[in-house]
Amino acid sequence: DIILVSGISGFLAAHVLSQLLEKGYSVRGTVRDEKKRDWILEKYKTFVDENRLQVIIVPDAAREDAFEEAVKGMTFVIHIASPFHFKITDPKIDLLDPAIIGTRGLLTHAAKHSSIKRVVITSSFASILDPSYGWRPGYTYTEADWSPLTYEDGLAAKDDPFTAYRTSKVEAERTAWRFLETEKPSFDIVTICPPLIWGPMIHQVTLDTLNESNRQLWDVINGESNELPKTMTLMFADVRDVAKAHVSALALDKANERFVICRGEHSWQKAADILRRRFPEKQSRVPIGNPGENLPPHYKLSAEKAKRSLAGFENGFIDYETSLCDIAKQLWDMQAVK
Ligand code: NDP
Repeated sequence: DIILVSGISGFLAAHVLSQLLEKGYSVRGTVRDEKKRDWILEKYKTFVDENRLQVIIVPDAAREDAFEEAVKGMTFVIHIASPFHFKITDPKIDLLDPAIIGTRGLLTHAAKHSSIKRVVITSSFASILDPSYGWRPGYTYTEADWSPLTYEDGLAAKDDPFTAYRTSKVEAERTAWRFLETEKPSFDIVTICPPLIWGPMIHQVTLDTLNESNRQLWDVINGESNELPKTMTLMFADVRDVAKAHVSALALDKANERFVICRGEHSWQKAADILRRRFPEKQSRVPIGNPGENLPPHYKLSAEKAKRSLAGFENGFIDYETSLCDIAKQLWDMQAVK
C-alpha cells in the first residue's frame, strides 16, 4: 500500500510519516519547497533507498489542481496540510482558501482514481465546539456535535483570526462530507478531530519557526512573560496519539466516521504548576499565576469512540504531564544550544 500524506514538513504530519514508515508502509509526502523536501529526504535516507519514501512539492494547497499529480497511484490519502496560525491579513486568502479548496481539490482528484480506498483528513475540535455556549458546564462534546460557524463568519472575521481559523477547519470538514454525499466516490472518509496538540517535535524546526500550538507554550515559558495567558483551548491531546489515530484509521473495517482524540484538560495554570514542580531550575522562566487555581466548571470532550474503535488506544492516551514536559524540555534545550 502506498499512502499520500500532505504537508509532511509540519509538526503533526512528521509523526504520521514516521509512524507509517515504522509500520512498513510506503509513503509519498508533499511539502511546499525544496529545502523542506531535501531535509526530509536526508533524514529518512534509508527509506528513500528502500523505495519506501518519495517527497514531492505542492507549493500551495489553495489551487483546485494542487494535488492532481500527487494522488495518482495511491491506495490511501492522509490530508494534513492546512494553515494553522493567526498571523493573517485576509481570512479568505490566508486560512479559508487553503483549507477548503485544498480539501475539495484533493478529493476531486482522488475520486478519479479507483485505487484509492480511504481518505483520512485532519480536522479539529474547532469543527465540533460551539463557541457561543462558552464554558458550557455539564456538557460533553462528542463526534455528534458540529460548530455552527459558517463560511460567512470566517470571511467576516478579519480582526479575529481565532474565529477565522476555526471556520477554516469546520468548513473544510463540511466540504469533505458534502463531497462524499454528492459525488459518491469509491473511497470512504475518516476525519480526526483533536483539540490542542502538544508533544515532541521531530520536524525541521527552530524556535523562530515553531508551529502555532508549541509556539503558544514557548511564549509562556521563554522567560519573557510574567503572566499566564487566558486559557482559550481547554482540551488537549499528545501529538504521538493524534498521529497514531491517523495511522490506525487506515485499518478500520468501516469508515465514514469522525474521531475525537483527547486526553483531558489543559489550562495555563495547570501547565505552570506542573513545570514549576518538575523543573525547579526553570522556575524563574514560568509565570507563577495562582498555583492550584482551577478553571471554572466547563464542558468535557469525549474520546471514547476512538478508544473503542481505533487500534492502539486500549491503554488510553499519553497523559498531559508527560506531553507537556517532553515539549517544554525540548524547547528549553533548543534555546540552550542556540
Ligand atoms: P504545522 O503548521 O506544523 O503544519 C501545517 C502544515 O500545513 C505544514 O506542513 C504547512 O506547510 C502546511 N500548509 C500550511 N498552509 C499551506 C498551504 N497554503 N498549502 C500547502 N500546505 C500548507 O501545524 P500542525 O502540525 O499543528 O497542524 C497540522 C494539522 O493539524 C492542521 O490541519 C491543523 O489544522 C491540525 N490541528 C492542529 C492542532 C494543534 O494544536 N497543533 C489542533 C487541531 C488540529 P509548511 O511546513 O511549509 O509551513
